[in-house]
Amino acid sequence: MKSVLITGASRGIGRATAIRAAREGWSVAVNYRTDRIAGDATLAAIRDVGAQAVLVPGDVTSETDVARMFREAESALGVLTGVVINAGIVAPSLRLVDMDVDRLRRMFEVNVLGAYLTAREAARVLLRGAGGAGGSIVLVSSAAARLGSPFEYVDYAGSKAALDTLAVGLAKELAEDGVRVNSVRPGIITTNIHASGGQPDRAERLGSGTPMGRPGLPEEVAEAIVWLLSDAASYVTGSILDVSGGR
Ligand code: NAP
Repeated sequence: MKSVLITGASRGIGRATAIRAAREGWSVAVNYRTDRIAGDATLAAIRDVGAQAVLVPGDVTSETDVARMFREAESALGVLTGVVINAGIVAPSLRLVDMDVDRLRRMFEVNVLGAYLTAREAARVLLRGAGGAGGSIVLVSSAAARLGSPFEYVDYAGSKAALDTLAVGLAKELAEDGVRVNSVRPGIITTNIHASGGQPDRAERLGSGTPMGRPGLPEEVAEAIVWLLSDAASYVTGSILDVSGGR
């Protein structure tokens, strides 16, 4: 049985990935931070497709929480061979000159420190747990990493660039141990993250100006993530895959 832990799986891209993975036969550990109702809804959707699932709530910025999430996932589902590092935040649009230090600290705490702590635990667990059989780690970055997000959130863009760099470096550290590490860069995807940054209409507004003329769906990103998790991507590591409709 293959088992995957997905951070930030109560909504959006994480939730779509959880359901897609379940359809491919993965057991899924669903992490979220605050929204228990949304977490329960993802759990029910996974069980609806006949897969095993468990909720592993926790804040990815807490070293203790992250370690506990992995322990709970393995005790409920068995050895993990997949981890999707998806939890992330945005913030209201501002130029860098107007950003205060609390905002910058929070952005890098969740998106960078949270991802690094999760990746470190993932590496420990995949190396140890699979007894050398390894597994796959997928980081959810953003097209912002190469676009820079001027006048919106250059802090967010930089935090995502850190994840691309982590994928490249960690892939080299773990390759001989059979653990693959890749990054997916979504473009403008229809989820509630835009409302949390104060722009509920952002995906529709900016999506129409992209080469494909529309925003992407969380399910379209999930497809790429689940492929990278799978053995079908057995020779893919250290890669950064754009899922951005040509943007
Ligand atoms: P979303 O709908 O806002 O969902 C975010 C998820 O992350 C929720 O499950 C949330 O759980 C969780 N989360 C936030 N902070 C957390 C923390 N400290 N610890 C644990 N979980 C936490 O976001 P989304 O649009 O699906 O985005 C998912 C990922 O894709 C993010 O990394 C985002 O940067 C990236 N991305 C999104 C887009 C896009 O256009 N949507 C584009 C490029 C990249 P709670 O609600 O319980 O806090």
